[in-house]
Amino acid sequence: MDAVHDVVVIGAGCAGMRAAIEAFDTGADVAMISKIHPVRSHSGAAEGGINAALGNASEDDPVKHAYDTVKGSDYLGDQHAIEILCNEAPDDVYQLEHWGAVFSRTPDGRIAQRPFGAAGEPRTAYAADIPGHVLIHVLYEQVMKRDLKTYEEFFAWKLVVDDGRCQGVIAWDLVNGGLHTIGAKTVILATGGAGRLYTGTTNAYACTGDGMSLALKAGVALKDMEMMQFHPTTLAPTGVLITEGCRGEGAYLLNKDGERFLVRYAPNAMELGSRDVISRAEQTEIDDGRGIDGNVLLDLRHLGAEKILERLHGTRELSMTFAGVDPIYEPIPVRPGAHYHMGGVDTDVWGRTELEALYAAGEVACVSVHGANRLGGNALMETITFGKRAGKHAADWALSNTTVTVPESVATDAERELKELLDRSEGERPWRIRDELAETMHENFGVFRREELMHEQGRIVEGLRERYERVVVDDKGDVFNTDLTQALELGFLLELAECMVVCGLARKESRGAHARPYDFPDRDDESFLRHTVVTWEDDAPRLEWKPVTITKWQPEERTY
Ligand SMILES: Cc1cc2nc3c(=O)[nH]c(=O)nc-3n(C[C@H](O)[C@H](O)[C@H](O)COP(=O)(O)OP(=O)(O)OC[C@H]3O[C@@H](n4cnc5c(N)ncnc54)[C@H](O)[C@@H]3O)c2cc1C
Repeated sequence: MDAVHDVVVIGAGCAGMRAAIEAFDTGADVAMISKIHPVRSHSGAAEGGINAALGNASEDDPVKHAYDTVKGSDYLGDQHAIEILCNEAPDDVYQLEHWGAVFSRTPDGRIAQRPFGAAGEPRTAYAADIPGHVLIHVLYEQVMKRDLKTYEEFFAWKLVVDDGRCQGVIAWDLVNGGLHTIGAKTVILATGGAGRLYTGTTNAYACTGDGMSLALKAGVALKDMEMMQFHPTTLAPTGVLITEGCRGEGAYLLNKDGERFLVRYAPNAMELGSRDVISRAEQTEIDDGRGIDGNVLLDLRHLGAEKILERLHGTRELSMTFAGVDPIYEPIPVRPGAHYHMGGVDTDVWGRTELEALYAAGEVACVSVHGANRLGGNALMETITFGKRAGKHAADWALSNTTVTVPESVATDAERELKELLDRSEGERPWRIRDELAETMHENFGVFRREELMHEQGRIVEGLRERYERVVVDDKGDVFNTDLTQALELGFLLELAECMVVCGLARKESRGAHARPYDFPDRDDESFLRHTVVTWEDDAPRLEWKPVTITKWQPEERTY
């Protein structure tokens, strides 16, 4: 073993850093591992904000927040977890403020809150349109202040499981090369999402679902993997996100005839309907010939230059740079893009997985507070509240359990496997497989899902996995071998795609992000008010089901 810590956190985005801080403050020896510099984590790209019922802009309370979240989840969210999130959110946000988060303000100096999709009250605290940037830097300051050990630019490749519990991780040192075995009494996965499964995605290149695959391979279940959220406003062809904050500030969505088409899909909430509803409405307009070059239009012009420059400055920059459009004068062409994985590693409300001493928090996890559809602003809150809880529990557990044993064979097996891959001199380069995966996922497992196309996607992924067996890594070097890490990431993505297809086929209903308008257009609570749960057996996903926890809110028809 190259090092041993009480708690090792894999990932240094908002969830990872919040978990590490809590574990450290509980008294544990903590280290973080991150394949990129912490402040480059995808959390830093969040543009909209973070939801907590502070009640600064209206009469709000955690019960209303919880109800909106349950309804938004299309009743698939676990209500006990949602209640914890909504109850703890206000204090957790004030703590971020006290740590130095510069939130935008009301005229009398309180934290300002903007309306967001499917939220009954203006509840999203923001810092202009760069809240992710603000939070990630505030958390990083707290990490620096504690002098927390960070293995920066280390790529976690495998979990160490021995004696029925997780005891560490095997990671590749990106800067110098070489595998390292880092022992840990508890490990927290905080590796974020897997948007890179799709071509048009808002997600950074690092969002390749590594932690989900690591858990799966360690025998841990993934939950609700069919639930990939499509965000209604992304730029073509890059997938760059145009924040929901635009609609929060009052922007309109128009079709090619200049019609506010949402009047036919979400007549009450209009542009502030939930993401699944609006993405479907847009896709229908586009498919029925009422779009423009595969897009609809997001019109901010009536907001006026002053408001756009003050509150949506970054959005203006993005649309000028990536779409050549200045939203002060012209509407922005937008379309649905893959954005957020509601599914992930199955955990309880303390971030515990089924494997002793392994935890997960943030987008990699599925606790599940988002169910079949996440509300904008709830993901950042989840990273903070459940990052904190996982950090606390993992530290307490580590401090009361003393031994870490990693058998020699774990390291030698990993070395051998890596050598085999690097020694291969002939075969296919990974990028073609990666592009085919992302393009076909978009076509066959997108906003709308058809039985035959999902089957087709299953066959495609199987074929890609066979080709992946013979993949060749050209770069044999030690220093910043991204050729190698991208090949490993592709392996993760292929396994996750297979899980998603299996779950998608099994869910024979339409719920949240999983829309099957052609064969099962309705929600079917009788048969499917339950989570899909997959484990990995004999090199394939094995599906089971798990009940949804209901506390206060019985399923109702969901309209906006
Ligand atoms: C463009 C965009 C805008 C968004 N805006 C909002 C918003 O306004 N409000 C909101 O609530 N949500 C928003 N979301 C969603 C939200 O930001 C994310 O779900 C959340 O920030 C994820 O945080 P995380 O800590 O779980 O993961 P990330 O921030 O993605 O961090 C993952 C970490 O894991 C590390 N990692 C990954 N794999 C490995 C590996 N193999 N080895 C070592 N380290 C690894 C990475 O280095 C990184 O440090 C947005 C998402 C996107 C993409």
